[in-house]
Amino acid sequence: DYAAPAATAMTPMMAQFFEIKGVNPGYLLFYRMGDFYELFFDDAEIASAALGITLTKRGKHLGEDIPMCGVPIHAAQDYLKKLIALGHKVAVCEQIEDPAEAKKRGSKSVVKRDVVRLVTPGTLTEDDLLPARGNNFLLSLARLGSDGEGYAMAWSDISTGELLVADLDKESLADEIARIDPAELILSDRLADQLAEQRALSSDRLANATRRPHESFESEAASRLLRETFDNAIDPTAFSRTARAALGALIAYVAETQKGAGVPLRQPRLEAPTDHMQIDAATRSSLELLVTQRGDVRGALRASVDMTVTGAGARLFAARLAAPLNNPASINARLDAIDTLIANAMETDAIRKGLRAAPDIARALTRLTLERGGPRDLGAIGRGITQARALGHLLAGLSDPGDELAAIAQTLGRAPQILADEFAKALVDEPPLMARDGGFVASGYDGELDTQRRLGSESRKVVAELQAALVEKTGVRALKIKHNNVLGFFVEVPASHGSRLIEDSVFIHRQTLANAMRFTTTELAELEGKIARAQEIAVEIELSIFARLREAALAQSRDLMAAADAMAELDVAAALANLAAQRNWCRPQVDASLAFKIEGGRHPVVERTLEAEGKTFVANDADLSAPGPDEAGQLWLVTGPNMGGKSTFLRQNALIAILAQMGSYVPATSAHIGVVDRVFSRVGASDDIAQGRSTFMVEMVETAAILNRATRHSLVILDEIGRGTATFDGLSIAWACVETLHETTGCRAIFATHYHELTALSATLSRVSNHTMSVKEYKGDVVFLHEVTQGAADRSYGIQVAKLAGLPAPVITRARQVLDLLEARGQSNPGSALADLPLFAHMPAPADKTVPQPRANPVTDMIETVRPDDLSPRAALEWIYELKKAA
Ligand code: ADP
Repeated sequence: DYAAPAATAMTPMMAQFFEIKGVNPGYLLFYRMGDFYELFFDDAEIASAALGITLTKRGKHLGEDIPMCGVPIHAAQDYLKKLIALGHKVAVCEQIEDPAEAKKRGSKSVVKRDVVRLVTPGTLTEDDLLPARGNNFLLSLARLGSDGEGYAMAWSDISTGELLVADLDKESLADEIARIDPAELILSDRLADQLAEQRALSSDRLANATRRPHESFESEAASRLLRETFDNAIDPTAFSRTARAALGALIAYVAETQKGAGVPLRQPRLEAPTDHMQIDAATRSSLELLVTQRGDVRGALRASVDMTVTGAGARLFAARLAAPLNNPASINARLDAIDTLIANAMETDAIRKGLRAAPDIARALTRLTLERGGPRDLGAIGRGITQARALGHLLAGLSDPGDELAAIAQTLGRAPQILADEFAKALVDEPPLMARDGGFVASGYDGELDTQRRLGSESRKVVAELQAALVEKTGVRALKIKHNNVLGFFVEVPASHGSRLIEDSVFIHRQTLANAMRFTTTELAELEGKIARAQEIAVEIELSIFARLREAALAQSRDLMAAADAMAELDVAAALANLAAQRNWCRPQVDASLAFKIEGGRHPVVERTLEAEGKTFVANDADLSAPGPDEAGQLWLVTGPNMGGKSTFLRQNALIAILAQMGSYVPATSAHIGVVDRVFSRVGASDDIAQGRSTFMVEMVETAAILNRATRHSLVILDEIGRGTATFDGLSIAWACVETLHETTGCRAIFATHYHELTALSATLSRVSNHTMSVKEYKGDVVFLHEVTQGAADRSYGIQVAKLAGLPAPVITRARQVLDLLEARGQSNPGSALADLPLFAHMPAPADKTVPQPRANPVTDMIETVRPDDLSPRAALEWIYELKKAA
């Protein structure tokens, strides 16, 4: 970073800068200078480039110019936001004494400064730095060598104080981190290196992670820290050693970045992996739950179905969508709440209106805890309480609220009304953001404050009264009381009347000008002092009132946070009720069976897109239910032309399962779903060039994960497995996958494929059935009906689709001729031969060891055996990789 220069060579300010910089490595230092934060040396260069601000110089260091740039205090938030978004971390260094104090110590001494706050992506608390409707998680990942292969993660949104912890195995590590999608990941140096080596986490995540010393993940120290932080209210041994280590490191990091302000965390909640449906990272991305595969919010499921009206509600909605439940009873309790709200449409409207007006209590309270809050946060809490109680009242009035809503009503009823009353009395209507300058306490709330304020604001009147009295006393009509910065208040008379006042002992002479004389009086001096002090005292009184109100709010933080949570839950329930009613969704029947029977299912996002274009979505049924309680599920093979609607159909069934288990109604006319423990979806693999893996490789790695991890309770959606390689390889792999899912896994599955040959499997595998996207041919063109029907597609219509896509007419004509030729030769149906294969017989025969294999040059070998016409472009790329390896 910075070479430590000899202290003698430096100005005192530079010495201070280096000292502070030295204890905050890895941070850009915002060094407070009057109305600016200034950055020096490398920091200045990084920040000026990142923010597009001018790089200048300030003074010299060791004979060289010091590069410098500055951001004005009033715009600092915006610059901070930009730097954080770019992945930088910032140490904010303030002047911690009045510059006058420093002057008293001598002309050369510098103002005391210290870092008051480390700003990192995962530890933000300011509203304008935070996503309003998104969570901002800090996640700490731990692994203790002595604890076998176990991992644990603790994660927290410190802006709301939420804190969770879970034990993990290595397999689910990347998937769980993808679910939380933290803004900042912290882990030990050692673990970061391990994970990088094992490629257990994406290189992106690791590159952006914050590395912490190994010691900060020590479980004994963590236990102590946990007891201290939560006043002995929790028993650290309730968590595994690794979980404690993850919690400890997280709490320590929060404390470090917040520099001693209280750690605003709530007691940790332990989450078991079995609490929710497991959705791996690839499935999450393929189903586009929160963002699309390209990373956009628009077009993802969440954007299409989230109707919440508060920030906290939106955050909870996203969390529920990311982690649907596994327990039928809990799911049904959520569904009951929706039923009730749908049945009470008027009250639900009123609830949503009330929620819309409710402020974000949790974030306001956190800012107050961190001493970063202001009068506006108190106001927010006050109004929040009033809203909470009104909503609780509304809910309590429902005739049959059900368990979930009753619990919410009860919690809301406990919101401390006294606090709201007090805040309403104490605060002006639109309080300022910061307490610093006062002006937020309402008049009539504090007698002493009112007096002081009157003194301040009425000073003109008091001065005017005194002036009149002095005119009367002296008989000098031209006498005036004036004010300037040198003398303060003074009495001024024309020079000709000066002698009269000099003789009067009440007046003390101060100044003689050409045509005027100036005096003061004891009374005037006293008045002057009083007025100046009144302003000061008023602010002091306001600050002490603020401190008292803040304490009062913090003392109720448990009930306040509970009310905030309850309002978020209510928001989600009301949003889902609204959604269900508006879009005509149905309540799914959710139980512990192995059923999966959807009637009239629709894809929630595609349906909306089509509607917007004035088109109608064709609803489709699916039934993958196991024939009996101890039996395996059905496997549907779906064939059909490109653009026929296969991937839409596949995805919609996975989405319906996810929506049902998050406790939502679903886009169908009826649905019976036995809870799905894991859902796997692979719809169109994409290149992972950054990791140096081709499409085919990615696809195979992901397919392996499915085959290894799916259970009988899983739902598997696979689209075109084996597409990335030569036809026969791909077909063989797809074939083997279907066999394994059917024979070994026994999960409910839908398998879409281009390999029509696969449909022969239905003859030998009892629970495999063939389905196809129906099409009509019309004058050589193809019309897609988007209807799933029994049976196999008889042809692929590739040429018709190519024509639709605008391939030039001569190419289409020629392609038809070639196809006719191939079909005449029976080449298009090699599956008839494959259909006779016995199960699993595609395993390679062991090489005959007695015959020595000729060791020719492998590269020449490869070139001789490759058949370019059999390779897709992707497979060709893969082949080139192989070739390079062989060379
Ligand atoms: P495939 O996977 O068979 O290539 P897609 O599922 O991508 O086909 O669907 C192609 C297009 O067809 C979609 O973008 C959508 O506009 C339309 N589509 C798909 N399913 C339906 C449906 N059930 N009803 C109406 N239109 C549909």
